[in-house]
Amino acid sequence: MSLDIKKIRNDFPILNQQVYKKPLVYFDNGATTQKPQVVIDEEAKIYSQENSNIHRGVHYLSEQLTQRYEDARKVVSEFINSAHDYEVVFTSGTTESINAVAFSFGEKYINEGDEIIISSLEHHANIVPWQMVCDREKAVLKVIPINDKGELLLDEYQKLLSPKTKIVAVNHVSNALGTVNDVKRMIDIAHQKDIPVLIDGAQSIQHSKIDVQELDCDFYVFSGHKIYAPNGIGVLYGKEKWLNDMPPFMTGGEMIKKVTFEKTTFNELPFKFEAGTPNYVAAIGLATAIKYVQKLGLENIAAYEKDLLEYATKKLNTIDGLRIIGTAENKISVISFVLENIHHYDAGMIIDKMGVAVRTGHHCAEPLMDFLNIDGTLRASFSFYNTKEEIDKLYDAILTVKQMFS
Ligand code: PMP
Repeated sequence: MSLDIKKIRNDFPILNQQVYKKPLVYFDNGATTQKPQVVIDEEAKIYSQENSNIHRGVHYLSEQLTQRYEDARKVVSEFINSAHDYEVVFTSGTTESINAVAFSFGEKYINEGDEIIISSLEHHANIVPWQMVCDREKAVLKVIPINDKGELLLDEYQKLLSPKTKIVAVNHVSNALGTVNDVKRMIDIAHQKDIPVLIDGAQSIQHSKIDVQELDCDFYVFSGHKIYAPNGIGVLYGKEKWLNDMPPFMTGGEMIKKVTFEKTTFNELPFKFEAGTPNYVAAIGLATAIKYVQKLGLENIAAYEKDLLEYATKKLNTIDGLRIIGTAENKISVISFVLENIHHYDAGMIIDKMGVAVRTGHHCAEPLMDFLNIDGTLRASFSFYNTKEEIDKLYDAILTVKQMFS
């Protein structure tokens, strides 16, 4: 089925506006996605008619909303096909999810001299928490290298795995380059040595169908705001055995079974990892966003976005002095590029004045930029609501930049 883009765009009120008297072209979807009206309406409805703190009250509003929150967990569980809905923990986002695993897993399983493997493609959110564990536990961080196209070298990965390796943490899709990593294979390789794997799904959940049981990943994390849901909600999926064995990350209300001044026992899953009042409004908004995406169909979304990527790659490649950074065989709809003798920041500012929003900078992947020997790129990241006509506008804007600098 092909997508009715005109109709879809009407679902996103923010797209229908002008900036600098030009129609907005929003190509910063890798940073955050826009919200369909159904999600906006859902949040407004909760605040105007249903709001009450969950899990605590015996009164009507609290009970109703608690049910809605737990129903949202079921929607997420079905979406990623987790074996149990209590393997889905709501967090504030990818960053918190990774910090939770790094802290809790680190406390329980990582000791002096142990090794943690990440990759050269990681976002800072999947680097710094592991560095902190290494500092605390005197463990060692190992990094999978990449080739010139921005693909992970799986032979090198295999060589890095050792009896000391306690966990592998890699992204499914690189936010800076768009590379889709063969995480299924990487998980299989790690599991042959009984090493668990965390997948940072911040850039894959919105572009492809995720089945955590098929992947057999031990942890999968993502942010709601990158899949058309509200800000402030994210997911930490973990296999039951790990979540049961790991100590909690944050402590306080709701995550306890019994508290005395002498000793505290912890609540069952998933509540053990949900201390304090969760963002129940955004969690329900996330379920609404997921249903919206499911209605469009992830296969249709993937096919449409692939078409946009191919069109944009072909078109931008015709521009003299433009170099695409990240040319992996398997990519999602992200194009990072640099312009010869023009700083990405200057180019981004001018492109913005033409109404086209692209991201500039290191994309929270400074070690990757160092490896590539650049200090940043311009990045256009496409969603299913973008069009080829908008890509033409980006193309024209880049030509204008070149003209201004020639
Ligand atoms: N990992 C990747 C691959 C990302 O792209 C991002 C967001 N740019 C994050 C982690 C962090 O996500 P958040 O800021 O939503 O916690």
